[in-house]
Amino acid sequence: MPLLHLRGTGLGVVEAVLFDKDGTLSISEPQLLTLAQARVLLCLEATDPEQRSGLRPLLERAYGLKASGICPAGITAVASRDHNLIATATALVQVGMGWPEALALAERVFDQADQADARRAAATDPPQATSATTAGLLPWLQQLQAAGVPCAVISNDDMAGIEHFLASHGLPPSFPALWSAEHRPRKPDPAAVHGVCAELGVVASRCALIGDANSDLRMAVAAGIPHPLALGYTAAWSIPPPLAEPHPLVHHWDELSLG
Ligand SMILES: [Mg+2]
Repeated sequence: MPLLHLRGTGLGVVEAVLFDKDGTLSISEPQLLTLAQARVLLCLEATDPEQRSGLRPLLERAYGLKASGICPAGITAVASRDHNLIATATALVQVGMGWPEALALAERVFDQADQADARRAAATDPPQATSATTAGLLPWLQQLQAAGVPCAVISNDDMAGIEHFLASHGLPPSFPALWSAEHRPRKPDPAAVHGVCAELGVVASRCALIGDANSDLRMAVAAGIPHPLALGYTAAWSIPPPLAEPHPLVHHWDELSLG
């Protein structure tokens, strides 16, 4: 079985590699920024003028929207759609709306923002990839494939989002197992790692997991992945993610090799 190296240092033997998607396989920031800004605007349009001035900063802080981009540890970047929806309804309650109305408005706004997102994607011919792959990803996946190391995606995106991203880059052959927000339990429950490992026919203690959030790295270690094989990936965001030391950090895929 191959040994995974980072910048020439051996980290451990790997039988499979599990990848987070957003901010690890994909440069998701531009699309997430557009989506979060659309949600803010749709919420503001649907609320009373006296609620708006208070609502905008609440939503922007909740979503992790900054002048320079998106906070990579914030809920837009890390959390599932339904957790973002609950955070939105919570902001609406804070400007005086009742909970049933807040939840209903958040659901309506999220549906409208998704429809606008789908229209943008469909407006290009052929349909546009949702987001670009991170720099140097394809040669790294080819290296893993050549060494017979299967890969999986473990993500809080839904299955359609994962499959669309992979298909738009010709990547499905590299990923025989997918674990989405619709799987149970979902990320960051360590049992999600065990679930996807079972699909690959491997044990967690002989896998690496690469992600851009501390929740990914904590989940990996709790699932039994050796600490040096729970790797933080930093290169997908304009604001580098605040990853906990001493997890090894990958700044470019060409820093990884198999031997
Ligand atoms: Mg991520």
